[in-house]
Amino acid sequence: MIRYIRNLELYDIDVRPLLMAFFMGGSIGVFGINEADAKAAAEVGASGGNDEEAVTVTAVFDEGVKLTVTGSKGRFEAGITDGDYRVRQTFRNRLKLELYRLLVKYTGHELPWGDLTGVRPTQLAIKQLKAQASPDEIADFYKDEFAVSEAKARLAVQVAERELELTRDEDLDDAYCLYIGIPFCPSRCLYCSFTSYPIALYKDMASDYIDRLALELKLTADMCKGRKLKAVYIGGGTPSSLSEELTEKLMRAVTDAFPEVKDVEFTVEAGRPDSITKGKLDIYLSNGVDRISINPQTMNGETLKVIGRAHTPVQTVEAFRMAREAGFKNINMDLIAGLPGEDIRSMEYTLSEIRKLAPESLTVHSLALKRAATLSESLADYKNVINHDMEAMHDLVREYAHSEGLKPYYLYRQKSIGGNLENVGYAKEGCECMYNVLIMEELTDIMAAGAGAVTKLIIKDADGNRIRVGAVANCKSVDDYINRFDEFMDKKKSAVIG
Ligand code: SF4
Repeated sequence: MIRYIRNLELYDIDVRPLLMAFFMGGSIGVFGINEADAKAAAEVGASGGNDEEAVTVTAVFDEGVKLTVTGSKGRFEAGITDGDYRVRQTFRNRLKLELYRLLVKYTGHELPWGDLTGVRPTQLAIKQLKAQASPDEIADFYKDEFAVSEAKARLAVQVAERELELTRDEDLDDAYCLYIGIPFCPSRCLYCSFTSYPIALYKDMASDYIDRLALELKLTADMCKGRKLKAVYIGGGTPSSLSEELTEKLMRAVTDAFPEVKDVEFTVEAGRPDSITKGKLDIYLSNGVDRISINPQTMNGETLKVIGRAHTPVQTVEAFRMAREAGFKNINMDLIAGLPGEDIRSMEYTLSEIRKLAPESLTVHSLALKRAATLSESLADYKNVINHDMEAMHDLVREYAHSEGLKPYYLYRQKSIGGNLENVGYAKEGCECMYNVLIMEELTDIMAAGAGAVTKLIIKDADGNRIRVGAVANCKSVDDYINRFDEFMDKKKSAVIG
């Protein structure tokens, strides 16, 4: 148990993620500093029991700020006497950096992204590039202001430069992207935190689901009349877990509602190699799909068994070759660094197998212990086999990408991400997924359809400057999506067109 005891709540949303980044998988309790709360904190700490590390972080806001970290590794203190802590906007970075340095002293290790805990670390670099700062100046800014490592500062700048190149000539006025969610999978992966239901159990309901989805696509097209569709992404779940008949039905629904789909980037996540058939690939191609993702995650068969993916590396190779023969010229593959039991040699082997296939793009994720994942629930069972040397695995992927002519072009981070690292998309020039870039940098609205799908709307001021992103979510349950459809559509309609 990590206890954060403070006499001011203002910085809880800054301190909590920083503590989570240092003490991955540990539970965090936040308490007031008064006697009763402190007593409760002590009791929780004592009974937090098991083998969790007990650390107490205290922040006292008074004349200045006094920070203390105590635990089995000793007691460390720091103070901030300058700045006005009552103004979060200007004081936040100061506080985070000081606490970060204190936690480095306590734990004995630094974090690759320093005290940056947000999802989109490249946004700072984009802002600075637009203000004409040089790559060196931006890298120094990341290092000095947020204690980011040299390697990650350079990566952020490189990705930001590529994103700007890719979007420079795009006309994004009134543009939107379309996301379609298929919440079914052949089995549930150990680390999954998405909306995903086993297709075998939902076989009878899947057809009704596609009927409802077809209706939502029509309603969505009506809401977007006159606007520019930039890119379409069918994800999930595993869209390719649908039968060929339902795949055909889905594709017909998409092209009926959005006839322009054949002229825009159109990606389908054919995530599980064991769910891909020649018939489905032909249906995708004849409906304008020009990019698919076939996701091995690892090419080590033993790991696939441990993480609950019911396919083999051989099936990955077969599915990839089938997609090539069918005519796909832009194939992405997803990998995960830090899977249970894997080490640097496992990643070396995976990359040597990927090299033989030569996909146009490669996305490497860091294993994240998100709340909904079974892996998180059974962390105690797995923490001895999860290899935390993920940074070296990312380095290997970066070397592989460089040697194959793939450049990093989008990057994001998640809560509870392993090693406090990142997910990076690499691609050959011209094979980047614009959908990923546009949604990651929040450059267009995302109109989303299906169970668990979240529509995101960029809210701008009168001068066209983005002020915030509004979100409206469909329900996650397939039953509710089918039976309470009208309710969710009313909600979406009023958010989109008022
Ligand atoms: S394939 Fe993706 S969505 Fe499906 S269970 Fe695995 S992680 Fe979840």
